[in-house]
Amino acid sequence: MKRVVLKVGSHVLTENSELAKDRIENLCKFISDLMKSYEVILVSSGAVAAGYTQLALDKTEVKNIQALSALGQPYLMSVYHKKMAKYDILTAQLLLTAGDFNSRSATKHAKDLIDTLIAKNILPIINENDATAIKEIVFGDNDQLSAHTAYYFDADMLVLLSDIDGYYTKDPRVYSDATMRKVVDSIDESELLATDTPNHSFATGGIVTKLKAGDFLLKRDKEMFMASGFDLTDIRSYLLNNRQIGGTLFSKK
Ligand code: ADP
Repeated sequence: MKRVVLKVGSHVLTENSELAKDRIENLCKFISDLMKSYEVILVSSGAVAAGYTQLALDKTEVKNIQALSALGQPYLMSVYHKKMAKYDILTAQLLLTAGDFNSRSATKHAKDLIDTLIAKNILPIINENDATAIKEIVFGDNDQLSAHTAYYFDADMLVLLSDIDGYYTKDPRVYSDATMRKVVDSIDESELLATDTPNHSFATGGIVTKLKAGDFLLKRDKEMFMASGFDLTDIRSYLLNNRQIGGTLFSKK
């Protein structure tokens, strides 16, 4: 079976300071369908946002963000646990930092665990360990973390489910004449230098971190697909019917 890593951003998971339960429900249904023909790893943001739905701490202070992350992570996991249980699928949590990919033995250790979970039809759900991670060893955004996850845990493809349905010639929220790129086979240095534009108060990514993830994988002969996390039609069609309606495929093949 092919292995895919799905990464879902906090913007997709939350709405008006609440968890977007309908979207999480749709995502879980999709994952359960996907697990019939793929090995699936989920990288989920949203711990801080989930924490904020429980207690509105001031997010300008780092210690509060850590507290929100610690508060929100188990809550977010409980939501995934409940929704996946409907499909008889168990979920397991892995909190990683960049340090986990620093040494070959640490990476192998984590990969063995992932392989064991997948063999038992358990969905591994990964997030960055925001609560205690120190600055030097954090990825800072789950786009990079998910690219490392895809590469080191031997996935065939990384799927970024975002608040935007693909990679455009320029920011479509600013330029109405932007057009979507269907296939990207290399990323120019200048594209990686563009300013980060996270679109949401919890988001830490922006298009640049997605391109960095794509660049990392393209250079290692892996594929990435960027599609909407709000409407899963495009990614369903691509992964389950082998038909690209929308979304951007990053591939050298
Ligand atoms: P996520 O929460 O899924 O990680 P972000 O909000 O951080 O996503 O980043 C996606 C945003 O990047 C889009 O909503 C869009 O406004 C912005 N963006 C800037 N340039 C582009 C581009 N060329 N193509 C697509 N989106 C772009």
